[in-house]
Amino acid sequence: MTFARLGLSDPLLRALAALGYKVPTPVQVQAIPAVLGGRDLLAAAQTGTGKTAGFALPLLQRLAEEGPPVAANSPRALVLVPTRELAGQVCASIRAYGQHLPLRSCAVYGGVAIDPQRVQLRKGMDVVVATPGRLLDLHRRNALKFGQVRMLVLDEADRMLDLGFSRELDAVFAALPLRRQTLLFSATFADAIRAMAGAILNDPVSVEASPRNTAPRRVRQWAIPVDKRRKLDLFCHLLKRRGWGRVLVFVRTRKGAEQLVATLLGQGVGADSIHGDRPQPARQRALERFKAGEVRVLVATDVAARGLDIDELPVVVNFDLPIVAHDYLHRIGRTGRAGAAGEAISLVCADEVAQLAAIEALLRKTLRRSEEAGFAPDHRVPMTGPATALPVRRPGKPVKPKVAGGGPAGKRPDAKGGHIAPGGRPAAGKQPARRSSRRSS
Ligand code: AMP
Repeated sequence: MTFARLGLSDPLLRALAALGYKVPTPVQVQAIPAVLGGRDLLAAAQTGTGKTAGFALPLLQRLAEEGPPVAANSPRALVLVPTRELAGQVCASIRAYGQHLPLRSCAVYGGVAIDPQRVQLRKGMDVVVATPGRLLDLHRRNALKFGQVRMLVLDEADRMLDLGFSRELDAVFAALPLRRQTLLFSATFADAIRAMAGAILNDPVSVEASPRNTAPRRVRQWAIPVDKRRKLDLFCHLLKRRGWGRVLVFVRTRKGAEQLVATLLGQGVGADSIHGDRPQPARQRALERFKAGEVRVLVATDVAARGLDIDELPVVVNFDLPIVAHDYLHRIGRTGRAGAAGEAISLVCADEVAQLAAIEALLRKTLRRSEEAGFAPDHRVPMTGPATALPVRRPGKPVKPKVAGGGPAGKRPDAKGGHIAPGGRPAAGKQPARRSSRRSS
């Protein structure tokens, strides 16, 4: 299969050739003709599958071929994304793909001054990539009018709901013209996503780029059992011993990110962090330094790291396991991208046994464990497996590890009295406390 055979126009083909894209990925093969044909789309696609080009290429082609020229403050296409970082990256991709087309695009997101974005929108933008909160803010200030919007893309829709954007999304849907083409991308399909799809999509084409809830195949995953208090030492030891050139490390809290960076800097290892307490320009700079090879270790919290696209990232380390099992998939999706191989290593302490079991239930397999010499834990991590889903406690509450085999894989209560599905995600509409705290992580 070639991009030309998918029906893409010459300006787009030239841009793809310049970017070195030779053959379309599976999600692109399925999505591009459907979107060019004007259909709505419901796509199960993880990061790293090429989904951005899957929607951006046909979107740009349709905008270039159809409709009135763009007017001030009245975009013709909206792309909604969960995080600021992703907004910047998707916008950069759209500009790269559309470099030979007379279309303009920009990204708008919170955490930075709003006035430069208003000035930009006044110039007339064909495509606006936005996080939901800032989009509505600009809409309320009349800097963004929705009357000309003909195409809407929801990228990483599952994540937008996780971050508590469902009310903002409903407000956007209500304000958009009914006659439009809508494309919904999600890595996972919880009930809330299905309900949203049913409400906003019109006879969609369904596209599935990879089996649901599975890790990217080329990522080698394993866990190293270790006592909590020794994780820092273990990480520094692994960094030295394995000679990792560049490594992305996920931690659970902002404080944890800062502590790890300080320790690494103290040992002369170049490190920087991305988390919600850092202003947007500092986060952007950290990412750029990491991409440029100026820092060896990038430490990130989940929300801040969502959507990061870093070429050739061989290793991802879970310094802490995520509270929500699906985040594990998003984390390890940072490596093994676009066909490359990768490694995902989780440092697991006894407190994290419930999270580990939830991850294994989601993956439907047991993570291989391998102790590191000199770091064997005093507090044994109980055996787990896909069938051992235990209650996942919220941070701050002591966890009494249970031995594998006790917990049912069906629904189980979370700490707030809601329910967590077998995959570890709280059931829709039952997670307000978590939502508000994670949005700015
Ligand atoms: P995405 O899943 O959209 O985040 O894309 C993941 C990575 O794959 C990005 O670095 C893209 O530039 C790259 N990519 C997307 N499509 C292709 C393709 N057809 N050939 C080569 N690389 C691609």
